[in-house]
Amino acid sequence: MALTRIGLAGLAVMGQNLALNIAEKGFPISVYNRSASKIDETIERAKLEGNLPVYGFSDPQAFVKSIRKPRAIIMLVKAGAPVDQTISTFSPFLEAGDCIIDGGNEWYENTERREKEMSELGILYLGMGVSGGEEGARHGPSLMPGGSFQAYEYIKDIVLKVAAQVPDSGPCVTYVGPGGSGNFVKMVHNGIEYGDMQLIAEAYDVLRSVGRLSNDELHQVFSEWNKGELLSFLVEITADIFTVKDEKTGGYLVDKVLDKTGMKGTGKWTVQQAADLSIAAPTIEASLDSRFLSGLKEERVEASKVFKAGGLDDILNSHPVDKSKLVDDVRKALYASKICSYAQGMNLIRAKSIQKGWDLQLGELARIWKGGCIIRAIFLDRIKKAYDRNPNLANLLVDPEFANEIIDRHAAWRRVICLAVNAGVSTPGMSASLAYFDSYRRDRLPANLVQAQRDYFGAHTYERTDSDGAFHTEWFKIA
Ligand code: NAP
Repeated sequence: MALTRIGLAGLAVMGQNLALNIAEKGFPISVYNRSASKIDETIERAKLEGNLPVYGFSDPQAFVKSIRKPRAIIMLVKAGAPVDQTISTFSPFLEAGDCIIDGGNEWYENTERREKEMSELGILYLGMGVSGGEEGARHGPSLMPGGSFQAYEYIKDIVLKVAAQVPDSGPCVTYVGPGGSGNFVKMVHNGIEYGDMQLIAEAYDVLRSVGRLSNDELHQVFSEWNKGELLSFLVEITADIFTVKDEKTGGYLVDKVLDKTGMKGTGKWTVQQAADLSIAAPTIEASLDSRFLSGLKEERVEASKVFKAGGLDDILNSHPVDKSKLVDDVRKALYASKICSYAQGMNLIRAKSIQKGWDLQLGELARIWKGGCIIRAIFLDRIKKAYDRNPNLANLLVDPEFANEIIDRHAAWRRVICLAVNAGVSTPGMSASLAYFDSYRRDRLPANLVQAQRDYFGAHTYERTDSDGAFHTEWFKIA
């Protein structure tokens, strides 16, 4: 057997599909997995899906030696200790100049530690965020590689072909930046994904609970939305979900799904990082909190009995809603809320980039998210253009195009939130987005009073509007 161009270790959902994608693009690939059954499965699929050049190895040394030098090995195993264990499995057989690429959802500091450890052995290291789930990995993901630029250059021909291809804007991959930047950007991508999913769920809740739309109507509304400014993978799959029937009961499957959301941790890391960097990310935080609250199913069922009085039916019977106006308003509220959520994510990336000296290009990140990944959307093109117009844009909200879009939509946005509040239907993501916008756009906030309180009880001093310096007042003596 001739030497292969690249190796991939970790053949669960992501690894198996990415290996087949790489082979299909003409790069012979060696594959390895800790347990052998997944190697056999991958080889079987490679045969069935067109005799793809995939070669399986259960012996780590034979796997490493089968790859052309300098070797490049992508790992797609569980983040954390399994990555260290996988590196230890291969490192005795690796040589200076070889590259390791971690494609998992890894904490960026782990990547930075490993890059340093590997560099002592002359081995190059990349942390490459991969988004798009099973389908994306197989047919074109969005790839976010960060770390050694030399390693990126070495696998560039492969990733350019393997990534999703978007007409007029190219493959959904770029060299993100040094250190753990690829993992960090993927983490924020996931945080934004949490926000998008929550905002769509709230739109659904308002339309269903307040507007009384049926699943058929919801399917039509989301399908229609997917033809305009909201066109995106998540809106598209949402439209599909409303059509699926439950084999067991014959009703709609979505109504049988328990209202309890799982999570794997990248949304939580995003919120923790936002707090560490003093970046307001209320929409993403609200989406995380909503997942926590969804987990309290039993408590919520009990609370719903306590607070039954003044139920939705009474409110809706006294204030019937105009369905088509509601649909239009909710579309506008969803779009405006989304702008705020992306503004928060982008500002978080920029803050980290400044802190670490990564020099990340926000417009280029928006470009590589246009295809392949879970948050892919037509809207990302507008974000890219906003940063092309002004790479130092302080906030997406003040880009002239986005500002005009918000001005056009804010009355509808407020109507939806007022209606939901009055009906007792929570819209934490949309409300957080609106509060973010309203706080950001006001030239004077009540922070003067908070600062006066801090000075009152803690002598923290305050600044004045009319002169420079730090002032302290003995408020309690004067009051
Ligand atoms: P996964 O369930 O996260 O991980 C399973 C893989 O990890 C298997 O190959 C398993 O080997 C290996 N593994 C676990 N512990 C190990 C250890 N101690 N030593 C060596 N190998 C070990 O798989 P996945 O869903 O395909 O995800 C892979 C990575 O991509 C993860 O970091 C994940 O967060 C990220 N990711 C996943 C998705 C997705 O949609 N699933 C999307 C984007 C990114 P065995 O078969 O021997 O157990």
